[in-house]
Amino acid sequence: MIVVNVRGAVLVTGTEVLSGATRDRNGPWISQRLGALGVEVEGIHQVGDRPEDLLATLEFLRGRGIDLVVTSGGLGPTADDLTAEVVGRFAGRPLRLDEKMERTIEAILAEFARRFNFDPESLRTANRKQAMVPEGAVPIDPVGTAPGLVVPAGDQVVIVLPGPPRELQGMWENAIAAAPAREMLARAEPYQVLALRLFAVPESELAASLREIGASTDLSALEITTCLRGGELEVDVRYRDGAEDAAAALRAGLVERHGPCVFSETGQSVTDVVVGLLDGRTIAVAESCTSGLLAARLTERPGSSAYFMGGVVTYSNDAKAELLGVPAELIARTGAVSTEVAEAMADGAIERFGADIGVGITGIAGPDGGTQDKPVGYVCISAAVRGERRTRDPVLPGGRADVRERSVTAALHLVRNLLLGEQLPR
Ligand code: ATP
Repeated sequence: MIVVNVRGAVLVTGTEVLSGATRDRNGPWISQRLGALGVEVEGIHQVGDRPEDLLATLEFLRGRGIDLVVTSGGLGPTADDLTAEVVGRFAGRPLRLDEKMERTIEAILAEFARRFNFDPESLRTANRKQAMVPEGAVPIDPVGTAPGLVVPAGDQVVIVLPGPPRELQGMWENAIAAAPAREMLARAEPYQVLALRLFAVPESELAASLREIGASTDLSALEITTCLRGGELEVDVRYRDGAEDAAAALRAGLVERHGPCVFSETGQSVTDVVVGLLDGRTIAVAESCTSGLLAARLTERPGSSAYFMGGVVTYSNDAKAELLGVPAELIARTGAVSTEVAEAMADGAIERFGADIGVGITGIAGPDGGTQDKPVGYVCISAAVRGERRTRDPVLPGGRADVRERSVTAALHLVRNLLLGEQLPR
């Protein structure tokens, strides 16, 4: 069976994105959406507001056999907003006034004009420019003021969307439902996905596992991407129909080799896993070197007040003693960064907040403050639930921000271990 894949590309326009003044939020978003629809994304291209560069890139993509191009930006009312005109030229479709779109934009702008007292004549000119649609293209109603377009261009289709991410995302569903895009996308066979997440497994070990599994199973039909992110390993696998057995063998091989370190098979974050495991129990945190980052992670999702009782940030020894009841004598004996103090902080969080589970973190985020015994990156973490606890004191790599971020991740994995009754991976 020959599968003809639909090949797509993203074309992000705008000098401010190209210059780095605005971080591109559209390219990755569109790429991810296209991928989920089964489109093989060739690349994300960026050009400034020069029409000849935009046209040259469209022609380059045609030469590369790209079926579907999605552009972002350059649809506004000003003279440098030229995407509609250039795409029309590329497709051999002259611009025509779309009277229905003109009325739609007029109604949107009437509200602006009333509120901001705009000059009606310049508004009418701007309005008319935005209602110019390449002949035979499907206009997409605006979410802001700029309409989008779906433009057939020979064998290709170009979807043209405005730059502001909120507008672009709000118009996406209508754009892909427009006939030319829909017909093109119907040819794309969606991928199946497997999203394994592992903790405390070095990349080298994962690579060895993949080699071993690959020795007995042909994995060539699987597109495997691995990424190390803040101490967690992400293994994303995409495959077409027919490669299910290879995917299942890969999954089984990784779970067999790394068992307790595999914390998700669906791409779920460790925070979501922990929240799921709480199962009606409450949690409170006591943080020193992470300054509330763990509390922030635990409260990212709506409804977190159902399980999150509270947190304290205690830097000074006095604060640890007064707010958490950590004995001053213990701090004097073991130092503020010690497993004993982390345990006392976790117990203090349970007691002061009346929570079921407590977490304590104390460490040296750097760049200063390290010693030979307790270097920068040395972090003590303890998680306790009535009668049971887990404590770790890893030396975490990276700069100050990395150490703080990784401490939070390590703490969440410790809570996961505790709630599952598992032993620590290492
Ligand atoms: P509008 O008429 O609504 O401004 P437009 O299509 O003309 O739409 P642009 O002029 O290209 O859009 O960009 C408008 C604003 O949208 C930019 O100033 C920027 O804040 C935001 N924006 C544009 N492109 C991107 C992008 N790729 N990523 C993030 N933000 C973007």
